[in-house]
Parts: sequence; C-alpha cells; structure tokens
Amino acid sequence: MKKKTLRSLPDSQLCSKRVLVRLDLNVPIDDSGHVTDDTRIRASIPTLEYILKRGGRPIVLSHFGRPKGKPDPRYTLQPVADVLESLCGHRVVFCETTDTDEAIKATHELPHGEILLLENTRFLVGEESNDEGLARTLAELGDLFVNDAFGAAHRAHASTAGVAHQLHPAVAGLLMERELDYLGGALADPKHPFVAILGGSKISGKIDVIRELLPKVDALLIGGAMACTFYKAMGYEVGNSLVEPDRIDLARELIDTSGTRLILPHDAMVARNMDDGSNAHTVKRDAIPADEAMFDIGPGTAQSYARAIASAKTVLWNGPMGVFEKPPFDAGTLAVARAMADSTDHGAITIVGGGDSAAAVTGARLAARMSHVSTGGGASLEFLEGKELPGVAALDDA
Ligand code: ADP
Ligand code: MG
Repeated sequence: MKKKTLRSLPDSQLCSKRVLVRLDLNVPIDDSGHVTDDTRIRASIPTLEYILKRGGRPIVLSHFGRPKGKPDPRYTLQPVADVLESLCGHRVVFCETTDTDEAIKATHELPHGEILLLENTRFLVGEESNDEGLARTLAELGDLFVNDAFGAAHRAHASTAGVAHQLHPAVAGLLMERELDYLGGALADPKHPFVAILGGSKISGKIDVIRELLPKVDALLIGGAMACTFYKAMGYEVGNSLVEPDRIDLARELIDTSGTRLILPHDAMVARNMDDGSNAHTVKRDAIPADEAMFDIGPGTAQSYARAIASAKTVLWNGPMGVFEKPPFDAGTLAVARAMADSTDHGAITIVGGGDSAAAVTGARLAARMSHVSTGGGASLEFLEGKELPGVAALDDA
C-alpha cells in the first residue's frame, strides 16, 4: 500500500503549522560526547529544509541510545542539537522535556525559521510499549505528523506508530519516501538482470531475506561466513570457519530448490585467525585447511561477482563479503563496492542495505556513487524480508 508523502501535501497545509517530525537521530557518540558519524543527521536535513521553506515549524522527535524509559544524562539529545544546528544553518532550540505542558508551550512559541528538538523519546515510560496515552500527548505537539525515521520504522513505538494514529495527516518524509521507493522498487518491480549480494556472519539472520529474494532475482551471490554453512551442506570441510550447524539442513534445502540462481564463492581467503592477515592465502573452496578459517571470499570469486554486478540493471547488497574490519579481509567487500559504484555509472540501480555494509561503503568513500545507501540497518533487513514496518503501516494511505 502506497503511503501519503510530505511532498503530496499542499503548501497551505504546512505554512505556519507545527509540523511534528519523527527523525532517526540515533547517531554514534564517543565518551566525551562527540558525534562520531553524522550521516543520519545529514540525511534528515532535506525534510527539515522542505518544511522550513514552506513556512512550517519543525518540531523534532527522536530516540537516542537505550535509556530504560527514564531520563539518563548519558543519552540526552543536547549534543545532537548542536550538530544539527551547525549542519543545517538554522537555529535549533532544545527542549529538555518531551511530553509535558512545557514542551507543548515551546512548540507554540517556536519562532519561524527555527527548529525545536525535544528530548529523547526513550526517556518516556510509554515509548517502547507504544502506550496510547503517551501517543495522544505526543500528538498535541504538532498540527500534523511526518515520519522520516526509516531506521526506527520496524519498531511499533509511541513516537513512530502510536502518534501516527492520533495525528493526521500522518505522512512519510523525504528520506522515508526515498527508502521505500528504492527498497520497495527492488522487491516489487526490479529491472532485470536483478543481482542480489548477501553476506555477513550468519545465515540465521538473513534466511527470510534469502527466501524473499530468491524467486525475484536472476542471481543471488553469497559471501561472508554464511558461505561456510552452505559449504558444509555441500560436503566440504571448512576448518575453523564460522558455521551454524543447526542451519546446514536449511542450507541444503536452499541449494536444492534454487536452481542455478544461488551462487557460492568458488575460492576463499583463509588464515589461522583474523589477526593473522599477513599469512592470509587463497584456496579453492574444497581445500580449506583444517587449522584455518575463511575470512573473505577469494580474488577469483571477487572478480566473477564484479562481472555479474557489471551486467546487472538492479543490484541489491546486504552484508559484507568478509571480515572487512580487518584488512586484508576487506578485499572482497571492497571489490563488490567498487563494482557497484561502476555499475551505477553505467545506469544500474544500486542499493546498499545493512548497517555494516553501509559502513563499509562509506569507509571506502563510495556512498555517493550508489543510487541509494539505506540509513536503516534492522529496518532495511525487515523490509527486505517482506515484513510490513509498523512505523510505515501507521501512516495515511495515499
Ligand atoms: P550488515 O550489518 O551489513 O547487515 P551483518 O551484520 O550481517 O551485515 O554482518 C557483518 C559482520 O559479518 C561483520 O562484522 C563481519 O566481520 C562479519 N563477517 C563477514 N564475513 C565473515 C567471515 N568469513 N567470518 C567471520 N565473520 C565474518
Ligand atoms: Mg550488522
């Protein structure tokens, strides 16, 4: 079901209105309170700009970290307010409460051209239980609701789903719309050839994605440690590689039912342990030494995956090809990222979903060369599993 979007609203529905915007400002922060990655803050700015340009007054809600339903100074959004202000060039007023008369008063007093950021929604006791009373109070903070927090849309919380039932219109912001268009487009109407690449450590975490994608793709390329569980199912020994013994039968079933679409790495980068990169070497997949483990796809596999990506019109990637945090085991992941960037240049739609894959692409400075890098780790995974996200479902239908 298509959802109503911020862009579909006439300007008159925004002008002078208190626009309650749920953002995902849950950014990583170091011990001294510095934001170490501002990607999510930057990704939120277009929606704020869109509202401000039309005379709307953005009232921002976000969660931050995991406080347990009560105020905790370690998780105040105050430092995020400062970063948001310096990045967007508008004054950001910070309010130390969220669901109080004081907060509601602040929304009415917000001057035009400024942004009001309310304190962490997870300081509120009814947030994670999606308490209806809390949702009703949050609804008093605005005249309409915009959800731009794709990264939190898989949670049915008061500030994501609950409030959308209490305050209308309830629409998708620009980032949410973009996420749904790209991820939804890949699932519903991909241009062929459609190549998906799945990696990461565990089959168990990705099984529903594999099942959802297999009937839709022309090729599903497997990397990461999950390749080893498939190898086991094929009868190969994998040494000390990460294997999920309780998923071997499932891996066998997937191999048997997927025809030629499921593609496994034919060579592997192995070493005694992941800190022993200087002794890493390539072996065929049926020759992984008993005292070593696979930490990356091999260079031959990286080349053939790059060729498959080059010939695709839609490429969807979730999960690194190896232990990309520790070179030289980043080579397979980087090869996929580069091949996707080149493929974008040649007109393919390229989509990266998953927290670690997105971090790898950003680290390689290739994010701008992808059609879309999802800001939602868990949310994009659940979306790709074909699940309905509660934060999306609660929005008004288009
Ligand atoms: P994403 O966040 O993109 O969905 P995952 O969280 O599923 O990705 O997987 C990422 C993790 O998988 C990384 O920490 C990486 O080190 C690990 N990983 C990938 N390949 C291997 C491997 N061969 N052995 C051990 N860990 C691996
Ligand atoms: Mg991850």
